[in-house]
Amino acid sequence: MRAIEFPQLDSSYSTSQALFFTDEGILVETQTLLSFLPFEPTLKRLKLALTKVYLSDSVLIVKCQRTSSLEHLFERGFYISDERSLLASLEGQSTTNFILKAIQWLAWDEKLQYCSKCGHKVLKEPESIEKKCLACDLSFFPKFSPAVMVLVQRNHEILLARSANFKPGFYSAIAGFIDMGETAELAAHREVKEEVGLEITDLSYFGSQSWPFPDNFMIGFKATYVSGEIKIDRNELEDAGWFSLDHLPELPSHASISRQLIESCLA
Ligand SMILES: [Zn+2]
Repeated sequence: MRAIEFPQLDSSYSTSQALFFTDEGILVETQTLLSFLPFEPTLKRLKLALTKVYLSDSVLIVKCQRTSSLEHLFERGFYISDERSLLASLEGQSTTNFILKAIQWLAWDEKLQYCSKCGHKVLKEPESIEKKCLACDLSFFPKFSPAVMVLVQRNHEILLARSANFKPGFYSAIAGFIDMGETAELAAHREVKEEVGLEITDLSYFGSQSWPFPDNFMIGFKATYVSGEIKIDRNELEDAGWFSLDHLPELPSHASISRQLIESCLA
């Protein structure tokens, strides 16, 4: 991830593909539904004010502000999509991964302005994602919070749960953060036990995903039910239960590992 300072933004970048982030979400072309857009033509056409520009894998990640109304954008064939809705509409893992990276990078870049040890300003290193404190030289790298997600299966049923902050009607697999000193496998067993009181076996790795809301790194597992009755930890969950694979509730976005875990059981 390279930071490009504005004066260095020469004409060689004018037709580069760019992702435009505003405070309201990501810019999308209405007709094509594309969010990777030519840098300079889009900037000029929509009169966007640049805040920051980064370069990653030949794509510009642009933070900008609207200087005109949403109606003005719409008349010119564009709209702004919130990040989660855009991710849900994407096809292709590499596109999804790039946008996940860009979202997480911009959020961390904005959050980490000062050294947590001495309080001085930090600056990004030119050719790296590292930031360094100007006073004490302490290094900072983007922060991830590792978490596990476990989909428990019992014959033709899967265990799904919802927390109070989910959208109404939506359910997902059991998830929780990995404790310090703990392995992902131990965390999977512990989270299922703590949140719903069940014992599981046959834990198998499914896959992983960076999920930048705000900075999770999800490690997905499948598991088989062994014993126990569901006892919901009301501090963590609003509801949990067994769902037949033929009658599933509303599920998370296709872009999430949770949805991919659930859909793998339908195959
Ligand atoms: Zn410092």
